[in-house]
Amino acid sequence: MDKHNLTKEYSNGEVTVVWQASKCSHSANCVKNLSAVFQPQTQPWIKMENASSAEIVSTVGKCPSGALSIK
Ligand code: SF4
Repeated sequence: MDKHNLTKEYSNGEVTVVWQASKCSHSANCVKNLSAVFQPQTQPWIKMENASSAEIVSTVGKCPSGALSIK
């Protein structure tokens, strides 16, 4: 698979976070805002179980590149 077209989805049953690899500018805003959930060194890198849906939605909204969105 072409990594630049990679889209991944992560759900906690309530909200689904969509991550589009090609848009990610690796600013690490998400990591700084909510490090319990956004852990780029591990798999899966978004750990939905580690925060509330509200916290996750708020952090996704601060992604500067639009790589993260909520479905
Ligand atoms: S905040 Fe958005 S652009 Fe920055 S690392 Fe996270 S997903 Fe990538």
